[in-house]
Amino acid sequence: MNVLVINAGSSSLKYQLMDPETGAVSAKGLCERIAIDGRLTHKFADKKIEREIPMPTHSEAISAVLEILVDPEYGVIHSVDEIDAVGHRVLHGGMKFSDSCIVDDACIEAIEACIPLGPLHNPANLMGIRACQAVMPNTPQVAVFDTAFHMTMPPKAYRYAIPTAYYENDDIRRYGFHGTSHKYIARRMAEILGKKDFKMVNCHLGNGSSLCAIENGACRDTSMGLSPLAGVPMGTRSGDIDPCVVQFICNKYGMSVDDCLTMLNKKSGMLGMSGVSSDFRDLEAGANAGNTDCRLALDKFCYEVAKYVGAYAAALNGIDVLTFTAGVGENGPTTRAAVCEYLGFMGVKLDPEKNNTRGKEALISAPDSSVQVWVIPTNEELMIAQDTRDLVNAAKK
Ligand code: AMP
Repeated sequence: MNVLVINAGSSSLKYQLMDPETGAVSAKGLCERIAIDGRLTHKFADKKIEREIPMPTHSEAISAVLEILVDPEYGVIHSVDEIDAVGHRVLHGGMKFSDSCIVDDACIEAIEACIPLGPLHNPANLMGIRACQAVMPNTPQVAVFDTAFHMTMPPKAYRYAIPTAYYENDDIRRYGFHGTSHKYIARRMAEILGKKDFKMVNCHLGNGSSLCAIENGACRDTSMGLSPLAGVPMGTRSGDIDPCVVQFICNKYGMSVDDCLTMLNKKSGMLGMSGVSSDFRDLEAGANAGNTDCRLALDKFCYEVAKYVGAYAAALNGIDVLTFTAGVGENGPTTRAAVCEYLGFMGVKLDPEKNNTRGKEALISAPDSSVQVWVIPTNEELMIAQDTRDLVNAAKK
């Protein structure tokens, strides 16, 4: 089966053509500068090509992707009919989606209804869906939501302690994000251990970071909230802060709430604290060269991640497994070691040699650690492709 996985942003569109059974990716690429001019980067086998292609809308971007996929020289399929289904990443499914869904009118309406909750991403995701419907009307489409995995949280985890009316009238609550990644890691861990009944915390640490408390494969709590700004500090996002900070800054600098949130989303986190970069490689280089701001940013990050792990270990009444994934989680032995150092009180013990690994699935805890610690490379695209396969196959029956 060939599933085209689409991740549409406001001016970009990432794609992968993959086999959900094997995870093999036959081609992947990126359309950029949509609605500005348009550039396609396409990779297949060990080749990479770049083309300037006018993309006034997402429709032209999708058309360009389909054209390159069937191109006699650069393509990997002979006809668009060889694409069996399309899986779309969608940011916010609100309370309407606790699972992925086949795209139909009702699904589109529900995604539209979630626009107030995901004002930047959901409209772009919808553009990707509509563009595919226009150029491949007979190919089934599936929407896979970043929030869906978290819908098993109990009310004590997802409700904010504010007047109930805001929940009842406005759907204000914790939703959580990176759900596709957390779900993938939970499933992979269950495969590795050969069982489902265990408790784990997954640390998805990348440019955006979130942690997830998972029991028997289901989410019990997660660190992001109504929006992806909440939780641990990230590349450019502040993570949790006292809301009075917003009030203070807005009053003192005559800033609007929107501008202040832009600052918290784009200029804070590792970038804001270090004044150097949002990239952990730059921060580690800076810290090693004696830059104390870089060192503090890294220390703050590891401290906050460890605090969340401790909190979730309490929420789950103990954990069996701790997993690290995404750019920093997979490639940052120093970060993993610093986080686990805080968790020695609960019996977490890394094997320093095993921890010295990057980008590969690995058990990195010592044999006498009371919690197994793993590095598991995430694969959100594969999860999207597999959900797409499962729903499309079920619809055929
Ligand atoms: P992601 O958002 O999952 O793609 O993660 C991106 C982040 O991973 C980058 O900003 C880097 O800070 C981090 N990263 C990637 N490779 C490495 C590495 N080799 N060592 C430390 N951090 C890394």
